[in-house]
Amino acid sequence: MRSVLAIALAISMSTATAAWAQNAPAPAPSASPAPAPAPAAAPVPTPAKCDNPNALGVTRVVEIDTTGGPGFGFEHFKAYDFLRDHEIVLTFDDGPWPGHTPAVLKALADQCTKALFFPIGKHAGWHPEILKQVAAAGHTVGSHTWSHKDLSKLSEQEGKDEIEKGIAAVSIALGNKPVGPFFRFPALRHPPELLKYTAERNLAVFSTDLDSSDFKMRKPEQVIASVMKKLEKHGKGIILMHDFQQATAKAAPELLKKLKDAGYKVVHVVGKTPIEPKKEYTDMVLKEIGGGMESARPMSSVIKTIDGN
Ligand SMILES: [Zn+2]
Repeated sequence: MRSVLAIALAISMSTATAAWAQNAPAPAPSASPAPAPAPAAAPVPTPAKCDNPNALGVTRVVEIDTTGGPGFGFEHFKAYDFLRDHEIVLTFDDGPWPGHTPAVLKALADQCTKALFFPIGKHAGWHPEILKQVAAAGHTVGSHTWSHKDLSKLSEQEGKDEIEKGIAAVSIALGNKPVGPFFRFPALRHPPELLKYTAERNLAVFSTDLDSSDFKMRKPEQVIASVMKKLEKHGKGIILMHDFQQATAKAAPELLKKLKDAGYKVVHVVGKTPIEPKKEYTDMVLKEIGGGMESARPMSSVIKTIDGN
């Protein structure tokens, strides 16, 4: 059920049947032969059973060859117009965060659909169990720097450190796994020298086609109205949202329902080749996370005299 067509040097797309996302029956447990091992270079997520016959689902799975660091999102990068009319890519930034990220994950699972996450390294270090849930649900996990600084205001080396520490932290949080080869610059500010660096690292850079501006909103209705209005104007696009934001977490169930009712179709983006963290940065992050935890605990909470004087 899968056909592959190359639309550009940097992108290959595979069209997955919508059936798996839309109430596909589970394969017979013992009658079917063991599936051939999937090629290591194509980590297409395992289809999950969907109990919602009216789910938004996933219309296509698009595999991106990130060699040379292609850019996506028409706000900044216009080379690859890979979405068809009414197709959308759901992206969520700044997590993982207790309460909010799990709420977004539940809404996505209820609609049998998939998204692309750009977690912050420090948040991944604080809440690795939540980031593991994101990956386990089959979503794509990229990275979004270590501490979400505006990289256009840092030196080139500081910018590279932020990028690499972010990748290392996400990798550690996922259990020392490679990371999706997708990166989003904080506030979408990408200085040219760092775009050169992400290209060398074969990281695709994601800007956006439409920014929900959800970080400015308190009420879920505002987030829904913002996304639907901008989509009406554009007809399709990569949507920038934040699983970190409470209003977005609350809006997610209704928003996904509205997207389905309005005829939008979700495209799930996966990377052809994941990115490996650099060892020196993994060491650096482990030291910082460990060091931070030590300094956060007063000695009296660690060592207590329970017998004697
Ligand atoms: Zn952000």
